Amino acid sequence: MKQSRTGYVRKLESMGMVDGPGIRTIAFLSGCPLRCLFCHNPDMWRTDPADEITVEALVDKLKRYKPYYGKDGGVTFCGGEPLNQPEFLYEAMKACKAEGISTCLDTSGFGRVDTFDDILSVTDTILYDIKGLEEKKYREMTSAPLRVTQQFLEKAQAHNVPIWIRVVIVPGFHDNYQYMNELADYIAPLNNIERIELLPYHTMGVNKYETIGKEYPLEGVPAMNKDTCMELQEYLINKVDVIRKSN
Ligand code: SF4
Repeated sequence: MKQSRTGYVRKLESMGMVDGPGIRTIAFLSGCPLRCLFCHNPDMWRTDPADEITVEALVDKLKRYKPYYGKDGGVTFCGGEPLNQPEFLYEAMKACKAEGISTCLDTSGFGRVDTFDDILSVTDTILYDIKGLEEKKYREMTSAPLRVTQQFLEKAQAHNVPIWIRVVIVPGFHDNYQYMNELADYIAPLNNIERIELLPYHTMGVNKYETIGKEYPLEGVPAMNKDTCMELQEYLINKVDVIRKSN
């Protein structure tokens, strides 16, 4: 892969406890080619010249939090879509590993397929968002083709990287047992799945669409009930177990 020592990072958040194992710094890489209907960060779709930073400067900042990472924590690269800056992402993750900092990649799995192997070679954990299982629905939800993210997942399996599955549940789209059964069939054969999380859709990003002059695509869709989402998650995890035990 060609080198890129400069990339675009909108912000860093320290002491993250939910985006990967242990205590982590979260690096938000700006830019995303997807247009998920439920996106609550449309302000992250585009890069801004003010986001520009070198690998060295970024890793210097990330190193400051190293005492908090402990044996499980480290840095999570999220977005936007971090795979949108593959060369920079690879260099930054490689530099973290060289400093003894564990790397986690929070991704939709959409990017340049020819860069996946290099990136996965320096990834310790993946937070993998499933946004749809079938071409038509995936395209409706993301405006992107399904095959790319499937290739990412196949390569992640080949590299044996531990995965946390994450699925945003939007009322009227995903909050049904048929979808849970389809997800279970998809997830059960996968290796190295350490966690399965359903994330309730919320409407906290709606105002950001006004700011960027775009209509909110899910206008009128209510936030997902958290208890119902938890019930669906329990059902899904049990269903995955049942399928695995029966095979
Ligand atoms: S991949 Fe993430 S940042 Fe990109 S559009 Fe979808 S939800 Fe938004």
